[in-house]
Amino acid sequence: MSENILFLAHVDESGSKLPNVAYEALATASRLPVQFGGSLTIGLLGANVEAASHTIMTAGAHIIAVSGPDFAQPRYATDAAAVEALCRAVPCSIVVAPGTPRFSRIMAGVALRLNGRIDTHLTELGVEDGKLTAKRWFYKQRLEAVIQRGSRPWFLLMDSGCAEPWAAQNSVGEPQVSMIDVPITPEMTRTRFTGIRSPRSDAQTIRPDAKLLFVAGAGWTKKQSDGKTHVDEAQAMILDFLHHSGASLGGSKSLVDQSGENQAVLPFMTHLNQVGQTGSTPRHPKGLSTCCHGEEPHVVGWRFINERRAINLDPNCGWARGKADVLYVADAFQVIARLNALLFEMSGGPALATTVASFSGCSRMQ
Ligand SMILES: Cc1cc2nc3c(=O)[nH]c(=O)nc-3n(C[C@H](O)[C@H](O)[C@H](O)COP(=O)(O)OP(=O)(O)OC[C@H]3O[C@@H](n4cnc5c(N)ncnc54)[C@H](O)[C@@H]3O)c2cc1C
Repeated sequence: MSENILFLAHVDESGSKLPNVAYEALATASRLPVQFGGSLTIGLLGANVEAASHTIMTAGAHIIAVSGPDFAQPRYATDAAAVEALCRAVPCSIVVAPGTPRFSRIMAGVALRLNGRIDTHLTELGVEDGKLTAKRWFYKQRLEAVIQRGSRPWFLLMDSGCAEPWAAQNSVGEPQVSMIDVPITPEMTRTRFTGIRSPRSDAQTIRPDAKLLFVAGAGWTKKQSDGKTHVDEAQAMILDFLHHSGASLGGSKSLVDQSGENQAVLPFMTHLNQVGQTGSTPRHPKGLSTCCHGEEPHVVGWRFINERRAINLDPNCGWARGKADVLYVADAFQVIARLNALLFEMSGGPALATTVASFSGCSRMQ
C-alpha cells in the first residue's frame, strides 16, 4: 500500500536549524517512501524557517511551512493551528514527527482534529508483512510493542537517540518552500511567552545528547579507607569530570534517595538522575559507573548503553558478573582525579576544583 508521508519539525531555539531529534526522525521518515512507494513532504514551523530549510533541502522533498512571529515560541493554540494547517495542506496518510516537548504537547490534539490516531515514544519504524510497523517499549523498557494500524492519518512521534541522524549534504541553491497561511485570532494568542527559567548551568547535569553516561553510586558518600567520608571532594570531582567530559550524570537509587532525605550528599543529584528499574533508561553510546555496586534493579536501566565500564573497589560487585565490558577494581576517587587531570591537560580549561591525588594504578577485569 502506498503511503503519503508528511514529516513535521519545528526550528530549534537558535532558529537556524532543527532540534537533533528532528534529524533522527527525518532519517527514519525519509526511508518510508522507498519502502512504500509514496511521497515525502516536509512541514516546518517557526518564526523563520529559511535557515533550517537549507539544512534539509537535500532530502529531496517538497517543503511547506508556517512561519511568522506568532510561531516563534511554543503555545498550544497557535502551534496546534499551524500543524493542523500543514496536515491539511497536503494529502498525508502518515505523519512522522520528533517527540520534542513542543510537539508532544500538541500532536494528540491535532490527530483528534483530523480524526487520526497517534502513537508516541516510538523507537523504530519498519515494514512487516508489507505494512508499516512502529515499535515502542512499555513497562519500564521490559516489553516491546510492535504496532500496526489501519486508521489513517496515523501520527507517529519518535523518541530521541534511536536512529542515526539524517546527514545533511552540501546543498547549493535555494530551497523551494511553499508558505501556508494560518489565520490567528486574538483568543489564540492569550497565552504569552514571558521567558525561560532554567537551572544554573552546573545544575544541568542530564544531557541526553552526551556520548557518555557517568553514573555515581552511593559509594561516593561512604566512609573510605581512612575511616572518613569525603563528600565535598566527591562533589567537586564529579562536577569537574562532567565539566571537562560533557558527560550526562546518572545516579543509583541509593545515592539519590540520600539527597531526598537532606543528608549531606551531592546537592546536584536528584531523582531525575536515577537510572534503573524505578528510574530512567537513558540512551548513550558509552557508560562509566563509579562507586555503584551494579545490582540488577540498577543495571536494568543500562539496557541502551552500548559500551559499559565500571570502577569499584569490590572485585565481586554486580558489574563483575557480566554486566560491564570492563571493570576497574580500583578506588574511584583516585581514578577520577587522574582522569580529570588528563582531561584538564587535553582541554587547557579552567583550574580544577580538586587536587589531583597520586594514582597508584588499578587492576582491570574484562
Ligand atoms: C523494586 C526495586 C526497584 C529499584 N530500582 C532501582 C533503580 O531504579 N535504580 C537503582 O539504582 N537502584 C534501584 N533499586 C535499588 C538497587 O537494588 C540497589 O540497592 C542500588 O542500586 C544500590 O546503589 P549503589 O550501588 O549506589 O549503593 P551500594 O549498594 O551501597 O554500593 C556502593 C558501592 O560503592 C563501592 N565503593 C565504595 N567506595 C568506593 C571507592 N572509593 N571506589 C570505588 N568503589 C567504591 C562499594 O564497593 C559498593 O559496591 C531498586 C530496588 C528495588 C527492590
